[in-house]
Amino acid sequence: MFFLALAAAASAPHYDLHARFDPQGRLDAEVTITLPEDVRDKSFILSRRFMLEGLDLPPGVILAAAEPSDTPVDGLYRYRFQALPGYQGPMRLGFRYSGPINYPDDNGVTAFRPQGYELFIDHMWFPVGADIQTRFTLDAEFEGLAPDLVPVGQGEVTRTPTGVRIRRDFIDIDVPLVAMRGLQRAQAEGVEFFAPDLTTPRATYYVRHSEQAARFFGQWFGPLHHTVRMALVRRERTMAYARTAYTVFPERPGETPPTEVAAARHAAHEVAHAWWMLASPLTDDFWLVESAAEYCAVRYIEATMGAEEAERFLAEKRRVSAEAGPVMGHGRPNRVQLYQKGPLLLVDLERRIGRPAMDRLMVEMSREADHTTAVFLRLLTNIAGADAAAEFERALHA
Ligand SMILES: [Zn+2]
Repeated sequence: MFFLALAAAASAPHYDLHARFDPQGRLDAEVTITLPEDVRDKSFILSRRFMLEGLDLPPGVILAAAEPSDTPVDGLYRYRFQALPGYQGPMRLGFRYSGPINYPDDNGVTAFRPQGYELFIDHMWFPVGADIQTRFTLDAEFEGLAPDLVPVGQGEVTRTPTGVRIRRDFIDIDVPLVAMRGLQRAQAEGVEFFAPDLTTPRATYYVRHSEQAARFFGQWFGPLHHTVRMALVRRERTMAYARTAYTVFPERPGETPPTEVAAARHAAHEVAHAWWMLASPLTDDFWLVESAAEYCAVRYIEATMGAEEAERFLAEKRRVSAEAGPVMGHGRPNRVQLYQKGPLLLVDLERRIGRPAMDRLMVEMSREADHTTAVFLRLLTNIAGADAAAEFERALHA
């Protein structure tokens, strides 16, 4: 996996990003994207709330099309670039644009709020590969961050008097950043945790179980290559997300604290994404991200809090997913199919082929560069035979 990751980085796109925020949350950005030499045609999407002020293209690379687009979300502009015949070298695309970082329809994750910034791909604030799967290495400079904001990012993060520099030599689809006021920091093995108050029950459970889950999955899938940075942020919307070596958990103001087992499942699910995050979010293969991470979380609960607690989660999943419909065959599965039914299919598969075979299957899959259902079924065939693979494929479509 290590060599594979290095090889991928050498031929991966690279983003050089300069972002300047003013105190009202207006963004001025300059992004230069260098594509691998074999790429001759590539489309990017960017939110329409930004005004494109300039494109910097080498002679021989053209903007072939620019048009409004509402896929995969509303309010985008889509830019298609092509290299003309005879053009040598990598395509290098420079974007200059500006506009408000906030917008009304942000689904409850407002990028710039009184506590600071929470930026991620859903804000469509940097040119994103139109396939939403383009992964890249990154050099980023953020300017205009008040001195009391504590930045949490991926890779090498250096606070400057007025901003932050991020150097990421591993690939990811996103440029995620949390920069919030008064974050406290706790360090554990494999995990670095940031929260406004590390003594709340939620923060305490997350720190404990993120560390334990990192160790548990490390023994199963092999060691983590990077410390996982985790940030607990205050907001109403209870959506967590994970990127490579980076996770954000929400904490609702005035909330009832979660039970320890609920927080443990949540922490383990997000840590598991360190190995389960590669399948396309636009296709029905996406169960290999969410259902796989959730299956791993249930295994973590079983190992650390007992089979009875794990069985309680499974019983609830059976109840919720009774009428869920097929996981596959209709594009990206819905939430119930991803988080409730998909993990149950993996539990059923484990009961059919046995835990040792299941563990081996998950290890081999986690090391694949392509997370598709076809690859999973091929590995399953090798490990447990064609009948087991055919039956699992039927279950995915049932
Ligand atoms: Zn997830």
